[in-house]
Amino acid sequence: MINFENTFQTLPPFLYERVKPTPLTKPRLIHVSHLKEDLGIALNEAELVKWLNGETALPGEQRIAGRYAGHQFGVWAGQLGDGRAISLGELMTAKGRQEIQTKGSGLTPFSRMGDGKAVIRSSVREYLCSEAMAGLGIPTTRVLALITGEDPVYRESVERSALVARVFPSNLRFGHFELCFHFQKDEELKALAEYTRATFFPDLTLSEMLREIVHRTAKLMAQWQNVGFCHGVMNTDNMSVLGLTIDYGPFGFMEDTVLNYVCNHSDHQGRYAYNQQPSIGMWNLERLMVCFMKLIPKEELQAILNEYPQQFEKEYLRLSRQKLGLKFEGPDDYRLLISCLQALNHTSMDYTFFFRELSHYQKGDVKSLKSIWDYYGHRQEVKEWLGKYDERLGLESVSDEERNREMKKSNPKYVLKNYIAQEIIADVEAGNSQKLNAWLEVLYKPFDEHEAFEAYARPTPPEHKNYQVSCSS
Ligand code: AMP
Ligand code: MG
Repeated sequence: MINFENTFQTLPPFLYERVKPTPLTKPRLIHVSHLKEDLGIALNEAELVKWLNGETALPGEQRIAGRYAGHQFGVWAGQLGDGRAISLGELMTAKGRQEIQTKGSGLTPFSRMGDGKAVIRSSVREYLCSEAMAGLGIPTTRVLALITGEDPVYRESVERSALVARVFPSNLRFGHFELCFHFQKDEELKALAEYTRATFFPDLTLSEMLREIVHRTAKLMAQWQNVGFCHGVMNTDNMSVLGLTIDYGPFGFMEDTVLNYVCNHSDHQGRYAYNQQPSIGMWNLERLMVCFMKLIPKEELQAILNEYPQQFEKEYLRLSRQKLGLKFEGPDDYRLLISCLQALNHTSMDYTFFFRELSHYQKGDVKSLKSIWDYYGHRQEVKEWLGKYDERLGLESVSDEERNREMKKSNPKYVLKNYIAQEIIADVEAGNSQKLNAWLEVLYKPFDEHEAFEAYARPTPPEHKNYQVSCSS
C-alpha cells in the first residue's frame, strides 16, 4: 500500500508552498515507464492519469511547489522556484527515497510571468532525454509517465499542453541554498543543510557532503563531455545537489564536432557552449560554496572547491581512455585525446559516429575505418592522428578484437539527436506513441546494435543539421 512521506515539508515553510494542480483538459496517457512497478504504484492506466493530472490523490500526499533562487546566465536572478512543477511527495523504495513531481501542472506561487504549463514538444524531449541519459549510464532525473492534453499553450506558436511525471531522490538544487543565503535566512539555511546531509548523505559531515557534491558535479561534467551532451541552460537553479542531470530544455548532443557548440539559440554569448561546461560547473559550485560561509571556514570551502579541476580531469581522462580503448595509463593520453578532438573539429566529423566507428579500428590499418572514408572522403588530419593512435596502441597488450569489444561499451551507437527527437515529437503531436515506444527501447540500450535504426547511427543528414532549439518550453 502506497503511503507518501513528505520529509521536505519538515523544513521551514519559507522553502515551499502548498499548491493545487490545474488538470490538463482531456488528458491522454502517451507512455508509462517501468518506474511505475519499481515505485510500487498499483494503479491502472486510467487511475494513473487521473492521479498525475491532479484529479485524485493517494494516501499521504501533500502537493507543494518549492521556493528556490539562482544565478541565470551569470547574473543573480533572485527568487525563482517551481513555476510549473508540483511535488506529490516521496516514496520509500528499494532504491531509496524517490520524490515524484509533475511538470506542467499549472500555476504556482512561483510562476512569475509564466503560465505554469508545458508543451508536448518540450515534455517529449525531457521524457526521452532522461531515459537516454540513464541508458548512457549518466546520473539523471527519471520519468514515470507522459500525458498530453488538449489545452492551447501559447509559445512562439500555439502548441498543446502536456505533463511529465518525473522521479528523483530529491528536487534539491544549488538554488535552494542560494535562496536562504541571499535572503539572509540563516536558520532556514542551517535546517536545509542538515536535512540534505541527514537524508541524502547520512554518513558524511557537512563539509564532507560539500566535497561529495563537488566530486559528483565534476564527474557529471566529465560524463557529459564524454558523450557530447550539451545541457544548454546551466543556471544554478538547474544544478542538482545530488549530481543529477536535471531540467532538460534546449539540450543538444553534439553532431558535427564543434568544440564551442552552443545548443541553446537564446545563449548569444555562448556561455553554456560545449567546451565551457566544465568551467561553468566550477563557477556554479562557487556560488554554492559561498552559501556556507557562515557554517564552514572560508579556507575549508576554498580547499573543497579547489578539488574540482583535478576531479574533473581525472574522471574525464578515465572516460576518454575507455573511449579510445586504452587500458594502460600513458603519460600523453590527454594530449592524444585533445589532438583527436581537434582533428574532428577541423574536419567537422560527427562525434558519435566517429568514436563508434573507431571501435572497429584495426591497429595500423586505416582501411578498417572504411565507413568514415566512405562518408567523408579521405581526411589527412584524421589519418595523421591515427598514426599517433597506432603508436599509443603499441603500448597496449590487448588484441584488436578485445579492444574493439570494450570500446563498443563506451562509445554509444545512438544518441538522442535533435532531429530524432523532432520526428518523435511530430508523431506524439499526431496522437501516436509508436515511435516514442520504439525509440525508448533503443535509447535504453544505446551501445547495442538496433538494425531497424541503423540510419540514425550515421552522421546527421545535412537537411537535419543544426536544428535550433530555444529556451521556450
Ligand atoms: P528553466 O530554465 O526552464 O529551468 O526555468 C527557469 C524558471 O522559470 C524556473 O523557476 C521555472 O519553474 C520557471 N518556468 C519555466 N517555464 C515556466 C512556465 N511555463 N510557467 C511558469 N514558470 C515557468
Ligand atoms: Mg529549471
